[in-house]
Amino acid sequence: AVRVQSLHRSFNEAGGVLNGLDLDIAPGEFVALLGRSGSGKSTLLRALAGLDRGVAGTGRIEVPDKVSVVFQDSRLLPWKRVLDNVTLGLRSGDASDRGRQALDEVGLAGRERAWPHELSGGEQQRASLARSLVRDPQLILADEPFGALDALTRIRMHTLLRRLCEVHQPAVLLVTHDVDEAIVLADRVIVLDGGVVRHDARVELDGRRSQADPAFARLRARL
Ligand code: ATP
Ligand code: MG
Repeated sequence: AVRVQSLHRSFNEAGGVLNGLDLDIAPGEFVALLGRSGSGKSTLLRALAGLDRGVAGTGRIEVPDKVSVVFQDSRLLPWKRVLDNVTLGLRSGDASDRGRQALDEVGLAGRERAWPHELSGGEQQRASLARSLVRDPQLILADEPFGALDALTRIRMHTLLRRLCEVHQPAVLLVTHDVDEAIVLADRVIVLDGGVVRHDARVELDGRRSQADPAFARLRARL
């Protein structure tokens, strides 16, 4: 679903943020992206999303046609009702029905006509997931989507996201600072450091997700 080759990005003469990064993500694969603050995670996501025009850099990026981006804040438009936010820009005649179904899937049935400010932070993030899903993306780019949520809501969102991924099968690249979140959600965890992918570990162990996986002990030790 994604192929990145020799990606370079820099914002000034001082040095590059991404320094020849290579990354492949298979269709339907869920990859968590870790790395300390300032390591270039958001820079990479913006490059993949095509949101970095004007930024100096080289490299080759291949992503699917249908990419959707989820940010830490939901970025719902405050002057549009929830359903209109979800279906924004969709042209098909059944957009409204699909929007309602997506809201139902994320547990927001009945809130179609609410204004974004009438939703809690977690509900706004769910609406933003619905907005993403209704576009049936082949790739979801998520930049700390649950960072602002409390622990319990975050766990609910994990369950929801895993379920939605099983149904819709998008490839996902999810930035998080939370190693546990990475291990719970992802098929594969990568760590960005020095502008390249420094570590790359599969989560599956005998078909089970295991925090005891030695790959993660090594990962934790290196973070
Ligand atoms: P965090 O975990 O804190 O979100 P990050 O890994 O997402 O960090 P980036 O936002 O990608 O890090 O930033 C990487 C580096 O690039 C930082 O040193 C940052 O200051 C710099 N940078 C990012 N965007 C710009 C910009 N528009 N102009 C100048 N420097 C930038
Ligand atoms: Mg960031």
